[in-house]
Amino acid sequence: MSFFTASSSSPTADANAIALMDERERARILAKAALFSPPSATLPDGRRDLVGLSRDEITAILAEIGEKPFRTKQLWHWIYHQGVTDFARMSSIAKPLQEKLAEQFIIGRPEPAMVQTSSDETRKFLFRFRDGQEAETVYIPDRKEDRGAVCISSQVGCTLSCTFCHTGTQKLVRNLGAAEIVSQFMAARDSYSEWPSPKGETPRLLSTIVLMGMGEPLYNYENVAKAMRIIMDGEGIGLSRRRITLSTSGVVPLMDRCGDELGINLAVSLHAVRNDLRDQIVPLNRKYPIEEVLAACRRYPAASNARRITFEYIMLRDVNDSDADARELVRLISGIPAKVNLIPFNPWPGSEYRPSTRERQSRFAEIVMNAGFASPIRTPRGRDILAACGQLKTASERARAGQAVADE
Ligand code: SAH
Ligand code: SF4
Repeated sequence: MSFFTASSSSPTADANAIALMDERERARILAKAALFSPPSATLPDGRRDLVGLSRDEITAILAEIGEKPFRTKQLWHWIYHQGVTDFARMSSIAKPLQEKLAEQFIIGRPEPAMVQTSSDETRKFLFRFRDGQEAETVYIPDRKEDRGAVCISSQVGCTLSCTFCHTGTQKLVRNLGAAEIVSQFMAARDSYSEWPSPKGETPRLLSTIVLMGMGEPLYNYENVAKAMRIIMDGEGIGLSRRRITLSTSGVVPLMDRCGDELGINLAVSLHAVRNDLRDQIVPLNRKYPIEEVLAACRRYPAASNARRITFEYIMLRDVNDSDADARELVRLISGIPAKVNLIPFNPWPGSEYRPSTRERQSRFAEIVMNAGFASPIRTPRGRDILAACGQLKTASERARAGQAVADE
């Protein structure tokens, strides 16, 4: 190789340099996530929550109290298949051991500090965790069939401040732990008494998970990944990776890991087709611009025609909803197995945007559809209880914000 050829000018060297940069960036994001760690899983009385632990972790803590590894499988079955929270109900375990377990451990659930059901049957839970922090979870039942999506939060607040999002006005308090993520789903199942976990293709009321609640799941990747592995475990809740969708505003360095390691579906909050506009409304774009986000989508391992990437596109009146925007959108995503969810803007107190008109929504959808992409206009659900996309923000924060106004 000529001495004067800069190493980065060869394609392999370029790829290596990018990989190295991505690795550094991933390490930086994970280190930052650790600063917002959830509190310890041990209660003040010394008991430990079994929810959210991997099988290996359960085996290790059972060994500490002199119990054999085969107990892990038993406990796993009771916790995640049967949904019990009381050791006394574990009938395959002898009473003395039930008592010993109850002295050492708990099977935790967050406290439902508030539960509201919308006129359209959408149910919003405000869950309070052990340190008093709260997050919202929403169950959106299908209107025609016995199934529905559970929208789960990954953080309390969010570091990103997308201008149209209510959660984005609440600064990041902390990440949710794996236990808190799994137990949102379990507590929602408690509310519909959907235990034991339905097996295989048996219909489920709570049939899919969307990581589209409060927070940016890829900024809390380790906890989210651990929680999803627990939920996908076939001997417990057993929800298939095909029924789980993670939504990201475009944290490029972790999109690959999510695909490689979890293989769940990906939704990307695109919302704008030009970097100048996306820089404004999704500020993370200044770090990972549209081209990088789309390149990561093209490499996303779990994407195929059967499992398309969802592009979420919020429809903001006179901001991003012109015919030219729609045409540019289809140009950008051409070749990606994709569908486009058009989300009419859901207003929240103090927001400045307006939803696009119905005619605009239809025209935009038509252009996208004519280019060969499914482009459903999402009907907002649970708007009356502020449970729709982007309306989540914890009541405690609302109360605090109210107090701040009162104090001024
Ligand atoms: N942080 C992740 C996941 C949570 S947000 C992300 O941004 O993708 C889930 C979806 O709701 C995102 O597509 C988000 O852009 C959208 N959303 C946010 N605010 C909204 C609003 N006011 N109206 C409609 N959709 C909104
Ligand atoms: Fe955070 Fe997603 Fe809201 Fe943006 S849209 S502020 S990334 S929760």
